[in-house]
Amino acid sequence: MKITEDFFPLAYSTSKNVYEGKMTYNEGKMLLTSKGMNSNSAADYINDFKYMIEGDKFTRTLNAPSIEYFLENIYNDYGISKLSTALSALERHIEYYESFGKGKLNKVRSIYEKFLKIKPSIPADEIEQNEIIKYLKEETKRAQILNDLKNLKETDPEIISINHKIYKRDNKTIAQIKFLRNFQCQICGTSILKKDGTKYIEAAHIKAKNLKGRESPENIILLCPNHHKEFDFGDLKITEHSVSNLVFTLNGTVYNLNLLID
Ligand SMILES: [Zn+2]
Repeated sequence: MKITEDFFPLAYSTSKNVYEGKMTYNEGKMLLTSKGMNSNSAADYINDFKYMIEGDKFTRTLNAPSIEYFLENIYNDYGISKLSTALSALERHIEYYESFGKGKLNKVRSIYEKFLKIKPSIPADEIEQNEIIKYLKEETKRAQILNDLKNLKETDPEIISINHKIYKRDNKTIAQIKFLRNFQCQICGTSILKKDGTKYIEAAHIKAKNLKGRESPENIILLCPNHHKEFDFGDLKITEHSVSNLVFTLNGTVYNLNLLID
């Protein structure tokens, strides 16, 4: 059967609800078939959604416009990291399908490439930090993070492994500082709420990275985007910088920030 775009929203929301445990697999299938979709297609949508979200290769192909619809909505509902995961599932699907010599998935490939272009809009460091933060929330106790930060050494390896994945140590340190400081600007106390429920905050180096400023609690302050730019481009005079405090005048206003983390 030809699945028209009228079906996409229901196919997507049903697959999502099944994945999130809000309905059973059979309930989802019954809902889709009750609206006229055949049983195989209903199963393909529900299964392929799960493969996309988990980054696994799927073997049953969907029509190109519905793949596009699914990617768009995965991006909207789950953010860039799940889009990225779904794209890697799709890449493996395309390779799998084309390896049989049954033809090319040209339309699907062009959709894949279109979404691939969205990815670099978020810096890789930001993505890494977000992943590490999720891990910190699940696995690590506050005391362990503090201990990690207190024992940072310049000789520590630059690349670390968390949960079998490779990250830059700097990103781990910044993620830990963001976590401990609750993602709040140290000047105005604000943070930005993202649609996935997590918070966005920026890390500013007091001594610039290219001047050998380290990623460490005494050299990193957390700032909202406005204060970050003001800190970088405004009239800044640092009058005191110790392990515990940073005192500075920025565009005529004096600030005293606590650099101690506990
Ligand atoms: Zn601020």
